[in-house]
Amino acid sequence: MVPVSTTLLELREVGKVFGDTVALAPTSLAIEEGSFVAIVGPSGCGKSTMFNVIAGLLRPDGGDVVLRGAPITASTGHVGYMLQKDLLVPWRTVEDNITMATRLTRRVTDEDRAEARRVAHQYGLGEFLRHYPSALSGGMRQRVAFMRTLVTHQELLLLDEPFGALDAQTRLEMQEWLLRVWKDTGRTVLFITHDVDESIFLSDRIVVMSPRPGRVVADLANPLARPRGIHTLLEPDFIALKAKVLGLLHGEEA
Ligand code: ADP
Repeated sequence: MVPVSTTLLELREVGKVFGDTVALAPTSLAIEEGSFVAIVGPSGCGKSTMFNVIAGLLRPDGGDVVLRGAPITASTGHVGYMLQKDLLVPWRTVEDNITMATRLTRRVTDEDRAEARRVAHQYGLGEFLRHYPSALSGGMRQRVAFMRTLVTHQELLLLDEPFGALDAQTRLEMQEWLLRVWKDTGRTVLFITHDVDESIFLSDRIVVMSPRPGRVVADLANPLARPRGIHTLLEPDFIALKAKVLGLLHGEEA
């Protein structure tokens, strides 16, 4: 039997203008539950504006953001959001940083702490629970930031260039790590990057954007099989998709 896919998130003609700048032209997009969708485009093409609108931090000039069929436009608290800058609290331990988002909304319970320890152990942070962020590498810090996002139990995770500041080797390790967590937890991920390889390595689908005005120029299915690893980077389908995305980013027609 073919599994029935469900739309988790819909953007319906969502747009945003700042002064004379069309940050995001009216955009429609549907994201399937459990999918991993990469959004790739150069700086200034409206990627972060789109995320801020989805997160409810920014009110669009028009259109609706719909989650599981219900409008959530300009309201917060419906998604997990993670940025390139890890925003860990330096005077809190790893365990306390993981429960930080919960602490902002209610009292942290023993159950919350137990969950933080469980996910930390499961995903390679177990030895660091009592450490402070300054003692961690960049990759480890991003793992903590991601765990903090994960324990909010939001189904939709918005990840805005989370590995952008990491070196190439750490980045690849983090990508493989993220795919493992994604597979285990069944969350839906929207992932911003300007790294074409990263967008292909991770995703089921690639949304390509271009600036002035910020808009979606292509929405491509990713045919690469999972699980993925270093071998994926050498497959003919990978190279073909990379050529396609690079062409689009250099102004070729979809
Ligand atoms: P990206 O995330 O793809 O780099 P952004 O969404 O940050 O792009 O920005 C899209 C465009 O909107 C850019 O030209 C940027 O300068 C402009 N912009 C973004 N936020 C604001 C703001 N708060 N005020 C004015 N212009 C903005």
